[in-house]
Amino acid sequence: MRRFTAGGEIPRRWYNALPDLPKPLDLPLHPVEKRPVKPENLEPLFAKALIEQEFSEARWIEIPEDILEVYALWRPTPLYRAYGLEKFLNTPAKIYYKYEGASPAGSHKPNTAVAQAYYNAKEGIKRLTTETGAGQWGAALAFATQFFGIKCTVYMVRVSYNQKPYRRTMMELWGAEVFPSPSSRTKSGKSILEKDPDNPGSLGIAISEAVEDAATNPDTHYSLGSVLNHVLLHQTVIGLEAKAQLEELGEYPDVVIGCCGGGSNFGGIALPFYADKAVGKKVRLVAVEPKACPTLTKGIFAYDFGDTAGLTPLLKMFTLGHNFVPPSIHAGGLRYHGDAPIVSLLVKEGIVEPVAYSQTEVFEAALTFARTEGFIPAPETAHAVKAAIDEALRAKEEKTPKTILFCFSGHGLLDLSAYDAFLKGELKDYELSREEILKSLSELEKLAIRR
Ligand SMILES: *Cc1c(COP(=O)(O)O)cnc(C)c1O
Repeated sequence: MRRFTAGGEIPRRWYNALPDLPKPLDLPLHPVEKRPVKPENLEPLFAKALIEQEFSEARWIEIPEDILEVYALWRPTPLYRAYGLEKFLNTPAKIYYKYEGASPAGSHKPNTAVAQAYYNAKEGIKRLTTETGAGQWGAALAFATQFFGIKCTVYMVRVSYNQKPYRRTMMELWGAEVFPSPSSRTKSGKSILEKDPDNPGSLGIAISEAVEDAATNPDTHYSLGSVLNHVLLHQTVIGLEAKAQLEELGEYPDVVIGCCGGGSNFGGIALPFYADKAVGKKVRLVAVEPKACPTLTKGIFAYDFGDTAGLTPLLKMFTLGHNFVPPSIHAGGLRYHGDAPIVSLLVKEGIVEPVAYSQTEVFEAALTFARTEGFIPAPETAHAVKAAIDEALRAKEEKTPKTILFCFSGHGLLDLSAYDAFLKGELKDYELSREEILKSLSELEKLAIRR
């Protein structure tokens, strides 16, 4: 019996969903002047090639040979059939998962990190800055930059820096410099430390520091690991490969599932199938988020900042408000107040179905998966696992076969302390009250952008 399909080839092109969207995306707005940003406004921060991709109307974008060479270290990733899980659930459904934990960094994130490092190096940039929370994105960028001879500076949220030393070790091992944020290296960091020397940091503060560092150094750019159109574009290698691998098996999914933080692994697996859906094919696309940070299920579709300080352009997206501080669940990668504009529009149009789960049911699903399939999912990934299990159980109830595909966005081998807490029964569920969400959203009202 063959349990996985490693066959197929690495796609030679990324799929750009922009020309196929049901309506054009609303343009990003300048943070102060509130007018649409021009591509050249972004040049202090991003490579020209990436800015071009951000607004491109070309359906297919060629993947440069140098990027394919690095991808070839771990791509194509295996597509597994979850025989063990199917048997345990006693379901008529077939469950497939695309194993993105196979990358050296352990998640899907290098798919875009490698592309971003390549284009920046090609345009003469010597260093990339970024922020990281739990460290997955920082690790992916540290891994990627070393292939193209550029440096990497990571501002890591101070609490994570102290609590999660191993991801910092990974980043340093791959040659990156890592600073706990807030740091005294930037004006924004310094001003926070002056008022509060023990500030634990936040993703919003770390973004402000990384952006300031890039904006004030001409040989330095900034790099973002999710949300933006070009990030989702690079991640489509996941869905394109999966589609070809399923085709080899004579299969097509009824439902495609991904967990959703900023929307990049979900977009990566789902958008190539959206291309078929846009021309009439029947396939459901399900984005899974935590109930503790319910952006797509409880947020509003509006212009909002990407960071806490309000330095980034305003994006039209589902958001809980840029001041929203989600409870500290273990799926750190899903604790973002906003979501990718592409994914947001598809949810708004009723094309993508969002679902939300609470932390303990998600960890229970992860445990079932680890005990039937062997692989230990990252807590983020476990959200997709939970949704896949629910789909499979529904198929059983309805006594109808169905083919399920989900993105296994990363392994959980650096999240064992979260599993330890779960096994000891120490995990809590957080469901936000309507009042808490309305309070955070009322801040947005003050922005008063009606477009
Ligand atoms: C970062 C991360 C996510 C969430 O980010 P998206 O941009 O929504 O994909 C999900 N899974 C893993 C393993 C991650 O590292």
